[in-house]
Amino acid sequence: MTTLALHVLRVGACRHLECMAARGGRWRRVDFPALCGLIRHPQHGWILYDTGYADHFFSATEKWPERLYRTALPVDLPANEALLTQLASFGLTPADIRLVIVSHYHGDHIAGLRDFPNARFIALAADTEHFGSRLGKRWRATLGGHLPGLLPPDYFARVRAADNCPKRDLPRWLAPLTQGFDLLGDGSLIGVPLVGHSHGQLGLFLEDAGGRPAILVADACWSLPALREGRLPAIPAMFISAERRRYVATFESLADIARREQAVALLPSHCPVAWQEYRDAS
Ligand SMILES: [Zn+2]
Repeated sequence: MTTLALHVLRVGACRHLECMAARGGRWRRVDFPALCGLIRHPQHGWILYDTGYADHFFSATEKWPERLYRTALPVDLPANEALLTQLASFGLTPADIRLVIVSHYHGDHIAGLRDFPNARFIALAADTEHFGSRLGKRWRATLGGHLPGLLPPDYFARVRAADNCPKRDLPRWLAPLTQGFDLLGDGSLIGVPLVGHSHGQLGLFLEDAGGRPAILVADACWSLPALREGRLPAIPAMFISAERRRYVATFESLADIARREQAVALLPSHCPVAWQEYRDAS
C-alpha cells in the first residue's frame, strides 16, 4: 500500500455544549474545532479531506435564514487558522490543491471549497444529490446544516461520485467495515461510507508516512474518548443525523474497532483529543 503524509490542520472552531458530543458530558460551552486533513500523495500531489471553516462561511450566513446557523453555532476563525494561510506555510498556493475529498456537505466541512479553482471534488453520490435537492430551499437547507452559497458556481461539473470508483476490500481487522472505494485507483486512499450522519458520509482509510493505518471518520462520532467508552452523542444532537438508526450502527462499528485495534488512528473531525494523540504519535 502506498503510504501518504497526513497533516492535521485546525481550521476554526464553533462553540457548543460539551454534552452534545457524548452523553454524560458537562453542560458547558466548549470549542469544537473544525479539523481537516492535508495529504501528500507521491504522484497525485496535495489533497484535502474537507476544508473546515473559511471567510465564505461568514458571507454565506450574513442574511436570514442562513444567519440562524452561525447564531446557533458561533464560529471563530483566527487569521492564523485560515486554511490558505496554513497551506502557505507548506509552500502551497490554492492552485496546488488538485483534489478535495468532501466527507459531507455540512457548512463546517465545505466552507473553503470556493478557494480551490483547480481542484476536482469527490463525494458520495447520495449526499451530492441530497445537497442538490436543497438548492433554492433556504430554510430547509439551513435547518439541515447546508449552506448552498459555499459551493463554487461550477461545483456540480467538477464533482465526481466516489461510488463510481472501483470497490476495494478493507483489511479484515477493520470488520465490521468491509468495503470501500479506491478513490485514486492505486489503493492508497479508500473512501469508506459511514452512513447515518448525513445522506452519504464519506470516511477515508489510508496508511500514513509512518506506516500507521488511519481512518478519518468526519462526524460519525464527535469524541474519541466517548467512542472508546461507547457513549453516543446526546439525544438532541442525534436529531441532526439524517438516519439515526444507521448512525448508531456506524458508531458501534467504529467503537468496536476503537476498542479492539489500538494501532489504528481514528480521527473524528471535531475531536481535539484524537488529533493530538495522532500528532504526538507521529
Ligand atoms: Zn461537522
